[in-house]
Amino acid sequence: MSLLNVDEARSRILSHFQPIGTETLPLAECAHRVLAAHVTAQNNLPSFDNSAMDGFAVIAADLTEASSASPRTLKVVADIPAGTSSDVTLAPGQAARIMTGAPMPKGADTVIPVEDTDFHDRSPGTSAPEEVTAYKSLSGGDYVRGQGTDVQIGQPVLQRGHKLRAQDLGLLAMLGVADVPIYRRPRVALLSSGDELIPVDEPLKPGKIRDSNTYTLAALIADAGAEVVRLGIASDRRESVEALLENAAAQKVDLILSSAGVSVGAFDFIKDVVEAQGELTFWRVNMRPGKPLAFGKFKDIPFIGLPGNPVSAFVGFEVFVRPALEQLGGLEAEGTQKGTSRPRVRVRLAEDISSDGRESYLRAYVQEEEGVLSAHLAGHQGSGNLLSIVQANALLIIPSGVKSLAAGKEVDAWLL
Ligand code: AMP
Ligand code: MG
Repeated sequence: MSLLNVDEARSRILSHFQPIGTETLPLAECAHRVLAAHVTAQNNLPSFDNSAMDGFAVIAADLTEASSASPRTLKVVADIPAGTSSDVTLAPGQAARIMTGAPMPKGADTVIPVEDTDFHDRSPGTSAPEEVTAYKSLSGGDYVRGQGTDVQIGQPVLQRGHKLRAQDLGLLAMLGVADVPIYRRPRVALLSSGDELIPVDEPLKPGKIRDSNTYTLAALIADAGAEVVRLGIASDRRESVEALLENAAAQKVDLILSSAGVSVGAFDFIKDVVEAQGELTFWRVNMRPGKPLAFGKFKDIPFIGLPGNPVSAFVGFEVFVRPALEQLGGLEAEGTQKGTSRPRVRVRLAEDISSDGRESYLRAYVQEEEGVLSAHLAGHQGSGNLLSIVQANALLIIPSGVKSLAAGKEVDAWLL
């Protein structure tokens, strides 16, 4: 059993995962999905010159030196609500009433907002006046949103590998992208293991604990953009483990993820079963928590076995499984470091910390204090102390070789 450092273990795992394929989905179904192709604008935004205000389209030269002391009156020759267009061409001395978003008439170069005229009546249904008096001078282009000033036709706007957010969907809609090429979502079979585990809705009995990893890991899998196939709890018997893994294989999943049962305990069958029908490497990773990590294939399906302790399982997911799932799902997040989309920031330790020289992931609460992100340890740091991750909003990454750090020192952290 080899002792690997975290980076080595992660890159060995990642070398087994490639994006699993693409599909085309209607735009409305694409929130939080990953783009599978670059998107280039097929039209300008705005696609035509339009008014930024409710007002009057005018010729700026007509209003040179206009003011409340020296108003200018123009003849209103057209009315242009949003959604219409007008064939009118303004001549000097003329104006057209225009609404926000309506196309500028030919000849006009400027909009004077209603507020700067004698025509204040904005109640619905009011018809345009025959004349309008302007109290302000303008420069050409004022209150006009010019064609292509936001996005130019041919401009690259979104990159392959980008996870689509609300604003991205809006932009795709504006650009007429009704069907979107996206990466398929990986499917992950999830199992817990151990005779001590009972489901959440059963009363506690002597020696039993409730299965928490299923809930935590299922939520993390979904958060990493994958679908969860819940296999339930395997007991500490070979046949039970076999039955669940066979079920996983039948469901055509892209990854099998288990927690617990991979240490050297007398009832830890998962390793044996995976090895018997595939291959297994069992690593000791030079990290804390979460030293034991199993990786292999069950009938050609990649398998990752996380430790059972809830904190170890969580940290192991963040360090190894999230990067693998994001790679499977095509994510190439901007600023991604070490294969994870978790934001990585520098934080200042608010207290002294100690470590044992392994790369350590400490649970911490980070908040801004006097203009810097300051990190306080959250709860007990044992690998079974679930409350520590509940109270934490960050994992501090203490590099290997470090045994202690004084308050005031800076470290990297993943924001949770
Ligand atoms: P193991 O890896 O099987 O030796 O388990 C290590 C520790 O994690 C033991 O204390 C288990 O009871 C605990 N554990 C294992 N699986 C779970 C689970 N699904 N939820 C909560 N704790 C667990
Ligand atoms: Mg066990």
